[in-house]
Amino acid sequence: MTLTVERNPALLGVRCRACGVLQPADERYVCGECLGPIEPEYDTGSLAQGDLRATIEAGPQTLWRYAPLLPCRPAAGQWPVGMTPLVPAPHLGAAIGVPGLMIKDDTRNLTLSFKDRPVAVASARAVELGLTTLACASTGNLAGAVAAAAARLGLPAYVFVPADTEPSKIMGAASYGAAVVRVNGTYDQVNRLCGRLVDELPGWGFVNFTLRPYYAEGSKTMLFEIAEQLGWRLPDHVVIPVGSGALLTRTATAAAQLVATGLVPDVPMRISAAQPAGCAPVTDAILDGMRAVRPVREARTIARSLAIGAPADGDGSVAIVKRTGGSAASVNDDEVMDGCELAARTEGISVEPAGGVVVAAARAMARRGVFKDGECVVLYLTGNGYKQGHGDTVTLAPPIAPDADDFRAAYPEARP
Ligand SMILES: [Zn+2]
Repeated sequence: MTLTVERNPALLGVRCRACGVLQPADERYVCGECLGPIEPEYDTGSLAQGDLRATIEAGPQTLWRYAPLLPCRPAAGQWPVGMTPLVPAPHLGAAIGVPGLMIKDDTRNLTLSFKDRPVAVASARAVELGLTTLACASTGNLAGAVAAAAARLGLPAYVFVPADTEPSKIMGAASYGAAVVRVNGTYDQVNRLCGRLVDELPGWGFVNFTLRPYYAEGSKTMLFEIAEQLGWRLPDHVVIPVGSGALLTRTATAAAQLVATGLVPDVPMRISAAQPAGCAPVTDAILDGMRAVRPVREARTIARSLAIGAPADGDGSVAIVKRTGGSAASVNDDEVMDGCELAARTEGISVEPAGGVVVAAARAMARRGVFKDGECVVLYLTGNGYKQGHGDTVTLAPPIAPDADDFRAAYPEARP
């Protein structure tokens, strides 16, 4: 198949992570030799020769400014995605014992989660391939991101979610006109269902199946932005929530590409993993010294966006955390809610439970002495608290009459 759209000249092809064969970046989504997972590969040597930094800095205020390190070009009319704030978080840092704390705030992406990043690249790829429908298996956030992207591109969308996904996330995805297929089962069962439908529906782009090698590339842009926002250097340490593990593994890929292209100095960056205790296959493997994850059959956690018992990039995440000298922590639901509350009350940022997982895991690691003095530590906050509502997390005082005496009686601490 010959593609007529403009391609990235630095894209060499896709390389199999299992057998290592480099092959053409055509419509394939697994290795043509062994069906292993494939990843786009770039001519970083040639990119290092040109003035890549200037090209990026002159680019759009979206993740497409990193197009030389992405596998396809944006589709016409896509919503801008990315370039979210990186901010110091001194109050939260003091509260959890991490003085050099910073927040990468992807709660304010297009549909209020980092999933807009992989979907931006996957949907551009779908247009490039002439696909007719977007689809995905989702724990909630991906469904909204796919539904919004499809609406903007004028494509129908089918999003498959566990039936017990937060109603606000289901309604959010449905509001964009997507067919929300609620499945009585776990995320892993939803995922397998989509895997079976892929062959029956060849014109569909299942963003986390048939588009996965391209989809996952979008996750690199979070670290690309962090490095640029720090003045073209890597942070010392990043703490990443782990669901499928794609965000963690592609953060390592992004760091390697930033170094290989000369965009940042080659200094070590540690990568640590955060998971909820009710679904912690990756952090358990790291802390138990195992190389492979043991799948979790039934995830039980308030952090549903991380409730993936059999993570596709689980073993890869374990290897990267170990290789970079990072660490891991899992935290229970009470700690997760504490983490959400701390982020909101100390820094004014509303995070969904996955963000509470990251905050609480960072606190747990700080207590273990994981962070060094003076380290620049960046927490990935990947989903907005408004998406799942605050009903579980906040208790309100009773309403008062529209009367000043009533107010003074109810709030005696309010003084001039
Ligand atoms: Zn292969």
